[in-house]
Amino acid sequence: MVVGVPFDRTTSFRPGARFGPDSIRMHSWNFESYDLETGVDLSEVAVHDLGNTEEFGSSEDMVISLREEIRPIYAAGKVPIVLGGDHACSPPVVEAYPETAPSVGVLYLDAHMDFRSSYLGDRRSHGCSSRRILEKVGARNIVVLGVRSVSHEEMDDNRTIGMSYVTATDIARDGIEAAVHQALNILKTEKVYISLDIDAIDPAYAGATGTPEPFGLTPRDVKYVIDQAAPRLVGLDIMEVSPPYDSGNTSLLAARLAREAIVRSVAARKGR
Ligand code: MN
Ligand code: MN
Repeated sequence: MVVGVPFDRTTSFRPGARFGPDSIRMHSWNFESYDLETGVDLSEVAVHDLGNTEEFGSSEDMVISLREEIRPIYAAGKVPIVLGGDHACSPPVVEAYPETAPSVGVLYLDAHMDFRSSYLGDRRSHGCSSRRILEKVGARNIVVLGVRSVSHEEMDDNRTIGMSYVTATDIARDGIEAAVHQALNILKTEKVYISLDIDAIDPAYAGATGTPEPFGLTPRDVKYVIDQAAPRLVGLDIMEVSPPYDSGNTSLLAARLAREAIVRSVAARKGR
């Protein structure tokens, strides 16, 4: 089930991610319904688009409302695919995951650590999202992939908290296969949730984002993460696509990665 969240109030540099959901949808029209690698035809898959949420006031309002909107999706046994919006929209989607469901681990793809306790007085800022998710799932159940920007304070905090991460440089040197293998070994959970900040990918491919950071992952790296996690995937979000800076390539890539998650999940269910 697709849900758009047109919210970017906590953006710290370039605003515009509130226009992300509609732009990603529009660019999804580009693709064939048939998928070459899996043989899945999306015209035969029941994907429901719930449209966009209403607009919110504060980030706290957004968190409370979005959690309530996502809960019934999990309860119905469906997989939420949430299109942002800034990265503040991810923690409520993870927080809505039912306590009684099988354990979930989070692959958090991001150029940034997003590990501040609070940013500019807002604990629900997009600069705090990995930390809020960690507080929900536990330090052993989240791994950050592709990080290459962090504050001194975040590093100091993480020395005591111990969130795992694989840097973009590690991935460039050792390969994405090693990083995913390592991350899935750390998680040890039955289920996996992917939170994709589009700025995890290099600005050469995904420059239309609020806080672009050079030396990033390739689109194929992220495709590999999705393909490997798909059989255990319970939720996906794609955040921080900022259409005002987009020639179309970033929205197109986001749409293609959402599509990848759908066809791979369906293929895994069919045992392909
Ligand atoms: Mn982020
Ligand atoms: Mn980021």
